[in-house]
Amino acid sequence: MKIYDLLIIGAGPAGLIAGARASELGASVLILEKNKQAGTKLLMTGGGRCNLTNLDFSSIRDLAFRYQTATNFLLSPLTRFGPKELCNFFEEAGLKLKEEAKGRVFPESNKARSVLDLLLKKIKNNSGEILLETEVKKIVISSDNSEKIEKVELEDGRLFKAKNFLIATGGKSYPLSGSSGDAYPWLKKLGHTIIEPKPGLAPIKISENFIKDLEGLSFSNLKISLKNNKENNKDGKEVKTYSELGDIIFGADNISGPAVLNLSRLIDLKNLKNILIEIDFFPDLNLEELNKKLQNIFHSANKNLRNALTEILPPRFVEVFLSNLKINPDQKANSVSREEKELISRNLKYFKLKVSGLYGFDKAMITRGGLSLKEVSSKNFKSKLFDNLYLAGEVLDIDGPTGGYNLQVSWTSGYLVADDLFLK
Ligand SMILES: Cc1cc2nc3c(=O)[nH]c(=O)nc-3n(C[C@H](O)[C@H](O)[C@H](O)COP(=O)(O)OP(=O)(O)OC[C@H]3O[C@@H](n4cnc5c(N)ncnc54)[C@H](O)[C@@H]3O)c2cc1C
Repeated sequence: MKIYDLLIIGAGPAGLIAGARASELGASVLILEKNKQAGTKLLMTGGGRCNLTNLDFSSIRDLAFRYQTATNFLLSPLTRFGPKELCNFFEEAGLKLKEEAKGRVFPESNKARSVLDLLLKKIKNNSGEILLETEVKKIVISSDNSEKIEKVELEDGRLFKAKNFLIATGGKSYPLSGSSGDAYPWLKKLGHTIIEPKPGLAPIKISENFIKDLEGLSFSNLKISLKNNKENNKDGKEVKTYSELGDIIFGADNISGPAVLNLSRLIDLKNLKNILIEIDFFPDLNLEELNKKLQNIFHSANKNLRNALTEILPPRFVEVFLSNLKINPDQKANSVSREEKELISRNLKYFKLKVSGLYGFDKAMITRGGLSLKEVSSKNFKSKLFDNLYLAGEVLDIDGPTGGYNLQVSWTSGYLVADDLFLK
């Protein structure tokens, strides 16, 4: 039986970059992937365009800070193979990249496929092997050395041996893409600690029924804030407000979009009763300036209120918005009362929605939790319990905001595993 230098479980971004780098450094590499194709989730990233990293940071500390509890762990890895090194890696291999708003980096082709193809080509050209439709079921410890992994076993009993093993099976979100949390029980059995996996970057569920009438609408450049509703807050304490500028997409019972997904990271599901989302539809104007803008609309004598407001807002939104405020949309725009005008402008600046929960793993972009970072070396992503076991990507207890940060962790960890093992 062939004994590979590195056996990788999972052909996602972490496993593929590890395989590409290790084979480039002359190692014999085998990647086992349970799907029919490699990189299923990678192809879905960035709406099919793959937001592969983010260059909007002032220092590595500033960048690492965005990963909350993993900040200190990531300082050294991101210094050695961070966004800039990643961009060089891809560009030197012939993939043109471009930077868009907020530092987000995409392939110039706008196709995640070109990122995947480049990695597969590198692996193939360096004689790396990928076996598809090959699901690992078990990891077997060496009978001679309890600190070493000896082999992996498939459902049908086939065995594969290697000198080193990398688990890059991802988290639990979007399970249909192949990432279904397979490694958690293996790791627990090996004596590792798993921080409870939870859905991360998930659409936020909204209580109000009228939300269903907004389904499909999307807005750009709004200010979206997560707030604690003080009226319901018994001790009336001042609480923090977190805000993001960005787009919002309305679903049948939820809101999503990058800004909303980032705010979802801060929602404590145990304390939902007090949590509100507040939307400012005109963040560039203060209330007085908005009132002035609205005056022009309220002056149109020959239009009803509904038609007048559709000059600045989508018709379907106007319908729901006015009905919710119990304001007659058919009245002439110039006959709207002072109280009604005030109600309209305040609600366009401070539009409140009650949060009822978060979507689960089926719709969450990433998994929070995973293998405890206390049990992995930040030098090389090696398990602290086994001499030849490495972990990379979303299987680790690391999560970042939207904008390319989650893929960056997979690239960094996968690449550094290969360098640690094979860079002379
Ligand atoms: C819709 C969507 C859009 C996203 N967009 C972005 C984005 O634009 N930018 C960004 O930074 N992040 C994005 N993410 C997050 C990003 O895709 C993940 O963080 C990243 O894919 C994790 O990489 P990974 O290699 O660790 O795991 P995965 O990509 O999950 O890959 C793991 C692989 O392991 C395989 N596997 C699992 N178990 C086994 C087994 N038992 N045997 C064999 N193979 C197995 C799986 O089939 C899978 O192919 C997005 C996520 C989603 C769902």
